[in-house]
Formats: sequence, structure tokens, C-alpha cells
Amino acid sequence: MDYNYQKILEDIYKEILPYAEKGKHADYIPALAKVNPDQFGICLETVTGESYEYMQADTRFSIQSIAKVFALAMGLSLKGEALWKNVGKEPSGTAFNSLVQLEMEKGIPRNPFINAGAIVVADLLLTELDDAEGEFLRFVRELCGCDDVGYNMEVALSERETGYLNAAIANMLKYHGTIENDIERVLMFYFKMCSVEMSCRELAKAFLAFTNYAPFEYAGYKLSRSRIKRLNAVMQTCGFYDEAGEFSYLVGLPGKSGVGGGIIAVCPHRYSVAVWSPRLNSKGNSVMGMKALELLTTYTEESIF
Ligand code: GLN
Repeated sequence: MDYNYQKILEDIYKEILPYAEKGKHADYIPALAKVNPDQFGICLETVTGESYEYMQADTRFSIQSIAKVFALAMGLSLKGEALWKNVGKEPSGTAFNSLVQLEMEKGIPRNPFINAGAIVVADLLLTELDDAEGEFLRFVRELCGCDDVGYNMEVALSERETGYLNAAIANMLKYHGTIENDIERVLMFYFKMCSVEMSCRELAKAFLAFTNYAPFEYAGYKLSRSRIKRLNAVMQTCGFYDEAGEFSYLVGLPGKSGVGGGIIAVCPHRYSVAVWSPRLNSKGNSVMGMKALELLTTYTEESIF
């Protein structure tokens, strides 16, 4: 079916305006507290090369947990199924930074998209690669085709200074022998990944690699069609923490959110879409972003279901 995506994006924006002041942007990371919460951007890229955008589609923001998808893709490329030795692939049903479940389950995180799981993947990349921080940027830059995507050290250091809960998680993982490297090094790499800044357009471009299901190689990292399918399966079930069911129900696409207010979603074989608005709901997901994607799949009646 051919849709007038441009018109749909514009209509959606009008319809979600009543939500513009709902929610609160992440201020537990001091550097993110400075971001103007009243911003919105959206970009949709189709596998056939069309691009549609509205509002601030070119404004860069902190991708935060969306980075966990890139890290998992690299981890799967390097280790294959062996990656799942130290991290599960089940929805957690708990907050992204929960510690309780990790203790109960003896230091094996439920999935790679909660903080504990992403810290395990960061550790794995540090073990496998001589320059994991450089390689991570190389991979992301090739995926989105932008050479100047980079870490925001102010955000990373500000999160390090106040990241007591993530430090507790890393300590728990180290105690159980789930991570190998020095805690400080692992945490810093994790915070740097989260601090990467990209725009909706750059994110939508990057996620085309997970949309068109063609085997790919970027910066030397390869994923087969089957691995891409599986990566999307993990996004579908675990991409939104304890709101994964709600996102599946309302939007019906694999996706991943971040506390910077970004959400990326993939309509397999059709399009990738990135939306951004900093005000978050109580689960840490963008209020306007969730609503915009819900309307997108409602209007087009396209989802994986
Ligand atoms: N860097 C953030 C944290 O560890 C990422 C959380 C998120 O985006 N959900 O708390």
C-alpha cells in the first residue's frame, strides 16, 4: 500500500499536541536536566529510499538506551549465540535500572536492553576488542552514514558522577563473575555509549539496516538475516522495559526507547521511524513519542501483527 507518510506525520503532530506538556524530562542525569523539554522531531525512512520528516528531525539528542541495540548488534556479530551465556532474552517486567531482579537471579540479567544486560554487553565488547570505544563509534557512524556522530563527554561524565545505581549493578555483576573487566572501565564505556548524540534522521537511517532484512556488514561487523530477525525479536519483547507489553499492544513494532526522549521503531521490510520528545512517562519512555508511533500504525494499519 502507498501511504502519504508526510501528511500522516503532520496530522499526527497536530493530534498529539494536547500531550505536549505531559511528563517530565530525565533530570537524574544532571547534564540532561539542561535540555529544553519542549521539543519534538520525527523521521521515517523507507527501505525504498524515501525519507519523510517533520519538526526537529535534524536536532541531535542523547540517544541513551537506544545505544544498547547497536552494542547488541556488535556483540552478536562478534560472539554469535555464545553472547547469550551471560545475558538472557526474556522481558524483565521491571524498571530499566532495577537491581532486585539481578540479585534474585544471581547476576544474570534478563535481557540486553535493561541497564544490567547492556553493562554485560559493554564488558563483552571490551574483552573482544582492543579499542571498543572507537569501534562502537565506527559502527554507528557507518550505519547512519555520518562521520561526526560522537560521544558527549559532558553527559557521560555527569552520569558517571551520579550513576550510583548503575555502579551498584556493575558491582553486583562483578561479584557474580558475570563481567570480566574493571568496573570503572565498563561503566565508563556504558555511559559513553549512552551519551552518543544523533538526530531522528540519523537514527532512522541507522536502523534501516535492521529493517530491510538483508545480511549486512558495517565497519566489519556482519549480521545475517536470521540474526537481524532475532535482534528485532528482542526489541519487540524487551525494548521498553516494563512497558514492552503496552508498546507492543499500542504500536505493534519492534522498537527501543531511551531516556533522552528518543524512540526508534522498525516496520520490517517497510520503514524505520525515529521520534524524539524529551518529556517521559513514569516508565522512562517519551510521552509524545509513544503517542506518535501509536497513531502512525493506527493510521496506516501497518504493524507486525
Ligand atoms: N544511561 C541511562 C541509564 O543508565 C540509560 C537509561 C535509559 O535510556 N533507559 O540510566
